[in-house]
Amino acid sequence: MVEGSAVAEDRLKVEELMGQFNTEQACADALYAAKWPNGFRCARCGHLHAYKITTRRLPLLECRACHYQESLTAGTVMEGSRSSLRKWFHAIVLVSYNPGGVNAVQLGGAIGVTYKTAWLILHKLRHAMSQADTYIKLSGSVRVNAAFYGRPHNPSLQRHPQEQPLLVGASVNNEGQSIYIKIKQVEQNYLLERSVKHAGTRAFMESQVEAGAADVEFVTARFSSRRFQTLLDNVKEASRWINKMFHGIGPKYLQAYLDEYCCRLNYNNQEGSILKRLTHLCASTETVTSRSLIGFVVTT
Ligand SMILES: [Zn+2]
Repeated sequence: MVEGSAVAEDRLKVEELMGQFNTEQACADALYAAKWPNGFRCARCGHLHAYKITTRRLPLLECRACHYQESLTAGTVMEGSRSSLRKWFHAIVLVSYNPGGVNAVQLGGAIGVTYKTAWLILHKLRHAMSQADTYIKLSGSVRVNAAFYGRPHNPSLQRHPQEQPLLVGASVNNEGQSIYIKIKQVEQNYLLERSVKHAGTRAFMESQVEAGAADVEFVTARFSSRRFQTLLDNVKEASRWINKMFHGIGPKYLQAYLDEYCCRLNYNNQEGSILKRLTHLCASTETVTSRSLIGFVVTT
């Protein structure tokens, strides 16, 4: 399939899915199914039956055994949000299928919220993606290469202060193709000019690679002839996407955008619907507050 028709197909999918999630009821049903894929289960006593109280804006579930009440959005990224479920689901659809995802200006216009609210909704979705990635370790044959975000055409051996050092790693199959990829920022204290110190690769091993993985190769020298070009191309593409869609990102939020990039790439490599997976992540990830994201309270 040529790229043009794939993009057109994605746009059609966006329109169709926006229509599917056009009522609060449809969105509540989808969130319920994602939150309790095996049916309701009381968070307090584990009982399997609940009364549905639908007099409020969001459905409330009351356990039939212990009468514990739980909002449909409790324990999800939507918890505490004032935006309708419809707006959240439209955001999830756009992140899943809009070619290249969506930025806060575009999302604000599409769902009718302020830039700040759109920015926070997107960061809460990214938070769900980042959290999910922390549970997945690279395994089997693992290839890791040092890379940089920012100032891509700087050929110097000296590191420019704006450059963000990264490690890009992947589990690869027998043909050397990436099965699952991660791009992670490297802390400044793990750097020696443009090279990552041993402590930096060890930190990546400990946090991102399955313990006991036997076949792991690291390339940390900038111009090594052994470099893993496919991985470096992934970083190039991620950088291009971040610069085009978000006009560049500083070190504080860079990891969230890298995680979104990898999440979309990894989902495209796997079977099953991106939308379904992302909805499941949103339904099973505790929200992050605006205070911890930006230091003060803004309602979504
Ligand atoms: Zn209960």
